[in-house]
Amino acid sequence: ALHSVRVELDARSYDIRIGASLIQGAGTALAPLTSQPRVFVLTDGTVGGLYAGDLEKSLSAAGLEMRLKAVSPGEGAKSWAILGEVLDWLLSEGAGRDDVLVALGGGIVGDLTGLAASLMKRGMTFVQMPTTLLAQVDSSVGGKTAVNATQGKNLVGAFYQPALVLADTGLLATLPARERLAGYAEIVKYALIDDPAFFDWLEKHGLDVVALKQDALAEAVAISCRAKARIVSQDERESGVRALLNLGHTFGHALEAVNGFQSSLLHGEAVAAGMTLALRYSARLGLMDITDAGRAEALLEKAGLVTQLNRVPGGPYTSSALVEAMKQDKKGRAGKIPLILARGLGKAFILPDADLADVAEFLEGEL
Ligand code: NAD
Ligand code: ZN
Repeated sequence: ALHSVRVELDARSYDIRIGASLIQGAGTALAPLTSQPRVFVLTDGTVGGLYAGDLEKSLSAAGLEMRLKAVSPGEGAKSWAILGEVLDWLLSEGAGRDDVLVALGGGIVGDLTGLAASLMKRGMTFVQMPTTLLAQVDSSVGGKTAVNATQGKNLVGAFYQPALVLADTGLLATLPARERLAGYAEIVKYALIDDPAFFDWLEKHGLDVVALKQDALAEAVAISCRAKARIVSQDERESGVRALLNLGHTFGHALEAVNGFQSSLLHGEAVAAGMTLALRYSARLGLMDITDAGRAEALLEKAGLVTQLNRVPGGPYTSSALVEAMKQDKKGRAGKIPLILARGLGKAFILPDADLADVAEFLEGEL
């Protein structure tokens, strides 16, 4: 089944196409976006080895030549040095504003490519072909691009929207199982933010999504993209509701930070535990029923994600280290930080001034 989601923004709108085997039609989809006989493609070595050949075939069938560059897999690619290399490559190839630059890869390639596209001649046409579940449901939608600095992750970037997103769900077959589950955590997040019907759907079909049954998978990706598009179109530059997308991320980032952002704890794994903490803390404040928090926990656990704080990979974590990390992250004034909490499943809201001392006591009890 093919799905199409329209992202409506003030400046311009674009389509996200979702379904298996989309890569075979990529040439036809890209041809109308350029007057040039070539397409620039940035990927990482792993994804390029698996899929650059298929993409080239499809481009060449549409009369387009592929100009490919592969960076090394891993977060190291989101750096000044690699961004410079990519820009040098595009300039030396004579790329112009009316050329298309495609990101073929996960969120790392997507973030790097998007920033490069925004900078080239003040903006060349950018297309996302996300190849991880996380990239298909999250990073390829919404226009955030970035590289990292020594001072922190994603500190240098731009809001730059793609002209098109092609999410071929068939490409996820080769994704390592842990990466797949990490992406699934972000899918569950959309249900928990504002879509209780999607939560019920996931209770029935979540395992089909994780098992990559194509119909359920494409449906879940489409619902997730629609949810993110809806939130982003209300608040493109994150001055309000876009913060809801951070459900589970304040606790999650704290776990990642304490773990030193090592690969022993993937972002989505941290978010799964973080969302559980956010819901359990909501229950502690009397905002939601603890059995509903338990339903969310069970949904994540059933898929294979860890939700209990003392079992989170990369641990042990202490309450004081986590609270210190939250303080650093949010620059909270006078012992308060903003936190995304919930008044029930699918009823997330922003609490602007959660009490850190109380959060510390709560975390103590969770360990
Ligand atoms: P990633 O890009 O590193 O991909 C994960 C790993 O899977 C890599 O080793 C990659 O080579 C491999 N891989 C990718 N696709 C594959 C496939 N189809 N088959 C086999 N292997 C494949 O990681 P990610 O989780 O996709 O992205 C993480 C990045 O996304 C972080 O840098 C994060 O900051 C960023 N991010 C950005 C946004 C945003 O809004 N821009 C949102 C969330 C995350
Ligand atoms: Zn996330």
